[in-house]
Amino acid sequence: MIAIIGAGASGLTAAIVAARAGAKVVIFEKNTKVGKKILASGNGRCNVTNENIKTAHYHGENPSFVTYAISQFNTLTCKRFFEELGVVLVEGNKGRLYPKSGQSSSVSSVLAYECERLGVTIKLNALVQDIQSDASGFSLLVNANWLHVRAVLIATGSLAMPTLGGCESGYLFAKKLGHKIISPYASLVQLMSFEDFSSISGVKCVGGVEVYIDNKLATNAFGDILFTNYGISGSAILDISRVVSLGIEQKREVKLKLDLASEYSKEQLKKLLQSRLKYANDKGVDFWLEGFVHSKLARFITKDFHSKRAKDLSPKELNALVFALKYFFLHVKQTLGLKSAEVSAGGVDTSQINPTSLSSKLIPNLYFSGEVLDVDGDCGGFNLHWAWASGYVVGKSMIK
Ligand SMILES: Cc1cc2nc3c(=O)[nH]c(=O)nc-3n(C[C@H](O)[C@H](O)[C@H](O)COP(=O)(O)OP(=O)(O)OC[C@H]3O[C@@H](n4cnc5c(N)ncnc54)[C@H](O)[C@@H]3O)c2cc1C
Repeated sequence: MIAIIGAGASGLTAAIVAARAGAKVVIFEKNTKVGKKILASGNGRCNVTNENIKTAHYHGENPSFVTYAISQFNTLTCKRFFEELGVVLVEGNKGRLYPKSGQSSSVSSVLAYECERLGVTIKLNALVQDIQSDASGFSLLVNANWLHVRAVLIATGSLAMPTLGGCESGYLFAKKLGHKIISPYASLVQLMSFEDFSSISGVKCVGGVEVYIDNKLATNAFGDILFTNYGISGSAILDISRVVSLGIEQKREVKLKLDLASEYSKEQLKKLLQSRLKYANDKGVDFWLEGFVHSKLARFITKDFHSKRAKDLSPKELNALVFALKYFFLHVKQTLGLKSAEVSAGGVDTSQINPTSLSSKLIPNLYFSGEVLDVDGDCGGFNLHWAWASGYVVGKSMIK
């Protein structure tokens, strides 16, 4: 009997692959239903995978650890796997693939159905509290009862989003069995700023973001930028959040430079604003900017001279507006942390895991898959892809 701890994306995939090869599988899941994170993923649409799965989209102490698994289970394999389960994947922007139904529930429900069809036992409300290894396998303490199994897969996910099942169980079990844990920290997460953006909360722009750590450019991204009461969010911010989060963990100074008018160079923007002055009439400077930028943002960036009429702006003040839009600096206080993060960076040290079987190098018949490992991916379907791919590889290797 193979026991899988966690009925998330990787645990369910591993169970299906092992059961298809004839293994007897039991999954223990502490939640009341399977795949809670799958259900919440992609804003309820589930960004299942990406057309561009490659090692460069993954991070951790040893990023090449994923190479074998994603070569065995690539985008095509993923599309076929889901097609055979009845889910057609269609492309959105940036190579992202979603179920054609537009519903993440179609993904979790076909995985659950396939497990049931194959005779996999899924125990819900079943919290694994402890694990012990011995010569013949493992003892698991589940809801206060000890059970004995031959092999165990720890597919417990990470600490990210406790409301959906995120917890440290997997790290504690791994540590107890002699494994090292790379300290987890939040990734794909919103950022808190020292500056107060409550007056522009809800303003969304498409633009560029550059991250400066101790005044050195560390990374950049382009996409949605959303101002919030606590700071800043949006797809471009999630994309750079891993680097920011690590900088904050290391107690470094983290600054962001936003370009809120990225379609223009500094000179072009200056010329454009100058030419708009022709039609300014007697408009106040913030009202004059409306129609070009969001009214709340117009008021925010003109706060030092908004009692002025636009036509009375000095060249220096016009320059200040250009700078406010193209060089919008903010200082990051914190991330919103693992309670709000989509994924966690860090986890079980992959140097102690065989990349081709996902078995422990320390304890026979012990396996790991998914986010509990020190592997995290970029935004865009890469994290779920890792969960499916590692589940697929581990499902095959557990039956050998
Ligand atoms: C809001 C949100 C949106 C996301 N959107 C996307 C997206 O669109 N695309 C993408 O690629 N990634 C997305 N992700 C990330 C992705 O969902 C995860 O990386 C992926 O689900 C991890 O799969 P997993 O199987 O490793 O862990 P999980 O899916 O977290 O599953 C682990 C399971 O183990 C259970 N468990 C833990 N400990 C125990 C225990 N002791 N006993 C019993 N059960 C236990 C948990 O309850 C959980 O159900 C999103 C994440 C979040 C939070």
